[in-house]
Amino acid sequence: MYYFDPHIHMVSRTTDDYETLAKMGCVGMSEPAFWAGFDRGSVDSFRDYFRQLTDFEPKRAAQYGIQHYTWLCINAKEAENVELSREVIKMIPEFLDKPNVLGIGEIGLNKNTKNESTIFLEHMELAIQYNQQILIHTPHLEDKYQGTRMILDMLTGDSRIDPARVLVDHVEEHTAREVLDRGFWAGMTLYPVTKCTPQRAADIIEMCGAERLLVNSAGDWGPSKPTAVPDLILEMRRRGHSEALIRKVVYDNPIEFFSQSQNFSFQHPE
Ligand SMILES: [Zn+2]
Repeated sequence: MYYFDPHIHMVSRTTDDYETLAKMGCVGMSEPAFWAGFDRGSVDSFRDYFRQLTDFEPKRAAQYGIQHYTWLCINAKEAENVELSREVIKMIPEFLDKPNVLGIGEIGLNKNTKNESTIFLEHMELAIQYNQQILIHTPHLEDKYQGTRMILDMLTGDSRIDPARVLVDHVEEHTAREVLDRGFWAGMTLYPVTKCTPQRAADIIEMCGAERLLVNSAGDWGPSKPTAVPDLILEMRRRGHSEALIRKVVYDNPIEFFSQSQNFSFQHPE
């Protein structure tokens, strides 16, 4: 089955991973900007990172028949440096016309601090000003429930934000329903052991239905598995779900959501 991974950090993966993903049916992916594992020192460091995301990675992916898209922002982990964050937000429009840029992301909260909220709102303003879609990072573990509520309140507090153009990632059992009920798209991030496993994701699909629900692998620097989406496909087949339902979650839904971006020019492989 062909699939689309809507949230994977390929800058942290090898070219061999691209080959493996292609062999497993991955035909498209989107890569949100994220933390480098250390705080970047200057706006020029972000400019180089955005060049990598908009120029180098799409070429690396294309060698394996994978269409690569991206999202730009400064990560919540670096938002404590408000001055640098503002310089980055000011620089982002240089890249918004690049052909693989889908919007602003992954923005969100990490420790739910005041500075993080300030920078979140300024990213939101940038997205509104340039009519961009938004991809959201919700905090992990004990900060997730409160952080998700704070993020949803900031988004719904501004009537210029259309929830149908916002994807809220890393949802789990206790946050998925509220995200969907408020009209947003929701993404589940699969990790091999910790956090959301393929089994838990299949449970959430059975609880919430497949409407506006996506699944991704994160595939980042930490313990993660870039081929986690095929693991979910297998788990859903094992449970007897139809191929049409599985395809909706791993292929049709991401394409429907991304199609709202003017730069999304995905070519179906069939
Ligand atoms: Zn991420």
